[in-house]
Amino acid sequence: MKKHNFSAGPCILPQSVLKKAAEAVLNFDGLDLSLIEISHRSKQFVAVMERAQELALEHLGLQNKGYKALFLQGGASMEFLMVAYNLLEKKAGYLDTGTWSAKSIKEAKLFGEIDVIASSKDSNYNQIPKGYTIPSGLDYLHCTSNNTIFGTQMNDFPEVDCPLICDMSSDIFSRVLDFTKFDLIYAGAQKNMGPAGTTLIIIKEEILGKVSRVIPSMLDYKVHISKDSMFNTPAVFPVYVSMLTLEWLKEQGGVAAIEKINNKKADLLYSEIDRNPLFKGFVANKEDRSKMNATFTLENETLKETFDAMCAEAGINGLNGHRSVGGYRASIYNAMPLESVQVLVDVMQELEKKA
Ligand SMILES: *Cc1c(COP(=O)(O)O)cnc(C)c1O
Repeated sequence: MKKHNFSAGPCILPQSVLKKAAEAVLNFDGLDLSLIEISHRSKQFVAVMERAQELALEHLGLQNKGYKALFLQGGASMEFLMVAYNLLEKKAGYLDTGTWSAKSIKEAKLFGEIDVIASSKDSNYNQIPKGYTIPSGLDYLHCTSNNTIFGTQMNDFPEVDCPLICDMSSDIFSRVLDFTKFDLIYAGAQKNMGPAGTTLIIIKEEILGKVSRVIPSMLDYKVHISKDSMFNTPAVFPVYVSMLTLEWLKEQGGVAAIEKINNKKADLLYSEIDRNPLFKGFVANKEDRSKMNATFTLENETLKETFDAMCAEAGINGLNGHRSVGGYRASIYNAMPLESVQVLVDVMQELEKKA
């Protein structure tokens, strides 16, 4: 039986998607050729790329609104520098809400002045900063919607008079937002969309072409837009699997429908963390808790061995917390079924009975 995979990333994908992906590796589209041995310029693969881009925009309600979807390589980490390379002329604002935010700030500092407008670093990122004011005249404001490592998630996004850029790597397609607020959204595929190897970038074209520096072709969003993500050979397999996941999401009823299930999963797990005296949540304020990554610890570390053994026995995988937080992290992305969350909750309750 397949394990209950709570891994933070690369992470769980729908079983039906994995099956179709496996079939396409052997024989794609009845061609008697593998998906990964045909030209990326064949009409069959061009159709995959176009469909993946179309579905990404459709799920976010961004079709025909001046946005383009790109599937590039280099991970979300490459976007930390590409964003600055393409958009930073003098000064940009950043919200520092976790390790990934901090990394994006480090890269952007190579290209201009960075104003860290708010930070929760002093409390080991256990909350989302609030009550800050954003100065005017920034080239852009960058934020991270979900802090994968610490288990916090932004619910309110600031009103700004500059482009709003968001790293949505670990919660894209998990909830409904007014995505038209954002001018550039990026997400590494491997958290909620597909295998590692491709990054989705959704960009409002009008924000480009405003910096004075010369941009190398591979780092230039305009080049990738003009070549429809095929300036160089795209990551054909990750793009294909992402397309399958986006089709799967459509079959589930889209982002609004999956959000309802995601809310149920998060409620189930956080209720148990709050109820069960053996556990405590890591995040300071309930309203900042992530619905994708739930971080928690044991009140009494001596129970760790028993709990870990019980989890293993129940087929639970990937529950270890990140080394900078410790304890446990249950990643409950779109493809994680409610039943698997119930299995974890059952184990937590069994531990309480035993202890
Ligand atoms: C995982 C993650 C990244 C890094 O993604 P890579 O594709 O490994 O570069 C960046 N931001 C967030 C929010 C993440 O969860």
